[in-house]
Amino acid sequence: MAQEFIGIKRRVPYEGVIERVVIHNSDTRSLLIRIPGASEFSFAPGQFISVIIPAGDKPITRSYSLASSPEDGQPFEICLNLIDGGVGSNYLFSLKEGSTLSFTGPFGVFTLNEPPQVETVFIAEGTAIAPIRPMLRRAISTPDHPPLSLIYTAPDGEHLLYRSEFEALAQRDPRFRFEPIITATGRLSALLDDLERRYVKGDALRERHFYICGVGNDVLKLRDLLRGAGYPRRWVEYERW
Ligand SMILES: Cc1cc2nc3c(=O)[nH]c(=O)nc-3n(C[C@H](O)[C@H](O)[C@H](O)COP(=O)(O)OP(=O)(O)OC[C@H]3O[C@@H](n4cnc5c(N)ncnc54)[C@H](O)[C@@H]3O)c2cc1C
Repeated sequence: MAQEFIGIKRRVPYEGVIERVVIHNSDTRSLLIRIPGASEFSFAPGQFISVIIPAGDKPITRSYSLASSPEDGQPFEICLNLIDGGVGSNYLFSLKEGSTLSFTGPFGVFTLNEPPQVETVFIAEGTAIAPIRPMLRRAISTPDHPPLSLIYTAPDGEHLLYRSEFEALAQRDPRFRFEPIITATGRLSALLDDLERRYVKGDALRERHFYICGVGNDVLKLRDLLRGAGYPRRWVEYERW
């Protein structure tokens, strides 16, 4: 476990093979990647890899969270959506089963390694569920865990990824609440008022741990709202894409 938390950070690129492509919807897919010959690729729930994108003379890199759990082993999973004109996502969408890709990692401190001690709220939009999924699985892994919630927004049902998995977890475990929320934009901005009502104005309890993942400034707005309301800084953890 200790090794997992640290992760074996590697800057010499790995060469991975795409073993399977999972199509979630028209613009979202998962790539299941295996490193041939490597028996182990250890990481902490929430970490990401840095994929080398061969773009012109100078390759660029793009980060992708590990959507599977460390205990799943290989192949591990990344999950991404296609960005109109985006070099990284278009490259990854061009790869097929059997294609290879280069990456370094794992990286990142947005992690949940040990099951939490206090009520924990996970908040995500769209593909930003990727780092949250293994965190949630780790959090739920002890029978006497504190209350856990996943508040997950998307623009439609197809973009609520892993929905049946989360529903099954919630059915089995009364201490886990899954709240899928469909909004017109599917963005965190649509949740801000509701989250303020629940976790800021709704009670004076400030013993909650938040893990937030999404795209752009909405993540920072939510972070500032919660920290400004008195939640300890270290308990409002976030990753902004
Ligand atoms: C730590 C970290 C982990 C990440 N993990 C993932 C992941 O698991 N899955 C994933 O799809 N992306 C993830 N991203 C985003 C990813 O690295 C790329 O930014 C994304 O794929 C767009 O790259 P691009 O080259 O196609 O487009 P670019 O031209 O580089 O990006 C265009 C715009 O898209 C925005 N953007 C970035 N990601 C998204 C998104 N998912 N949806 C909508 N807009 C976005 C960017 O802010 C930018 O303004 C992560 C980013 C970081 C920093």
